[in-house]
Amino acid sequence: MYKHRALGICMLVLCAAGSAIGQPTPNPSSTAPATANQLPRVTILATGGTIAGKANTNSAVGYTSGQASAQDLIDAVPGIEKVATLTAEQISNIGSQDMNDEVWVALAKRINELFAKGDTDGVVITHGTDTMEETAFFLEQVLASDKPVVLVGSMRPSTAISADGPANLYAGVQVASSKEARGRGVLIVLNNTIHESRDATKTHTTSLQTFASPNAGPAGYVDASEVRFVEPVETCKRPRFKAPDKAPLPRVDIIYSHSNMLPDEVSDALKRGCKGIVLAGVGDGNSSKAVVDALSSAAQQGTVVVRSSRVGAGFTVRNAELNDDKLGFIAAQDLNPPKARILLQLLLANGTTDAQRIQAEFTTR
Ligand code: ASP
Repeated sequence: MYKHRALGICMLVLCAAGSAIGQPTPNPSSTAPATANQLPRVTILATGGTIAGKANTNSAVGYTSGQASAQDLIDAVPGIEKVATLTAEQISNIGSQDMNDEVWVALAKRINELFAKGDTDGVVITHGTDTMEETAFFLEQVLASDKPVVLVGSMRPSTAISADGPANLYAGVQVASSKEARGRGVLIVLNNTIHESRDATKTHTTSLQTFASPNAGPAGYVDASEVRFVEPVETCKRPRFKAPDKAPLPRVDIIYSHSNMLPDEVSDALKRGCKGIVLAGVGDGNSSKAVVDALSSAAQQGTVVVRSSRVGAGFTVRNAELNDDKLGFIAAQDLNPPKARILLQLLLANGTTDAQRIQAEFTTR
């Protein structure tokens, strides 16, 4: 799979000759140890997750997320102090299944503040993997600086045999310390692989290699000494929102489509007062006739309806299986349902309700 996302105004420029698609670019950014006063300053913001999880015994199946502190995580990584000068802050200590608008707003505020004051060269956020792609995508939309922000987590708790958290944290700090990571938006680093927030998705319940970027391929790779990106930085900058200063964001519900689907989930969502609905549609963002009719009537009455897909790869294509122009829908393109939800929440929070404008934003963000 390739790092070439054919998106509206922001076509990615392919690597120069000699740097084939999917292959690392030459001139990687070295993360070889430097002397203390040359080291980049990296701030670790800890939020919880399995990386901070603990079990009673190191072979236990059950464990509790969000037990270890930010400092515990750093202390478990010998040699990390040679990569960057670290400071650590605890933002929350929760499993990412409980991630919420309050923590997102706090993270965005703190990161914007750190960069604005010039206090740090890069940020690493430790986070559960379940909703990591959502937090990464949210932050991507609202951070003002182009300095590196990297999310790391783990699939095994800190007490497990071969816990993957320490290596992932080390790699995350390498990437956040790398000049090459600048201007690439918010990144996810797991299992020595770097992903962009728009592309990344969790694909496996337990494997260490759980993150993939199905439509674009990984952004790069990390090894013991180097951070390598597969393409140059995008020259065309994507627009950003002003970070929201308070939670919650406007309510947008996701409706998961399946066979024998009845329209009651649409009417229930409307009764709950949602301002938008994202359809996690079958195939190319489709659903039963009854659901499509209910969604279309919701759209005519002012609820914004975005069609995404439950498939996990590919673009949801406008006006293909369904006539979006006629039905009043927005096609989510390559955004999966949770990310489509976040983008719609931010657009609604910023007063954007016009379907045509929202469709354009889904292409350019
Ligand atoms: N449930 C955990 C979480 O997302 C899983 C993990 O971190 O991998 O917090």
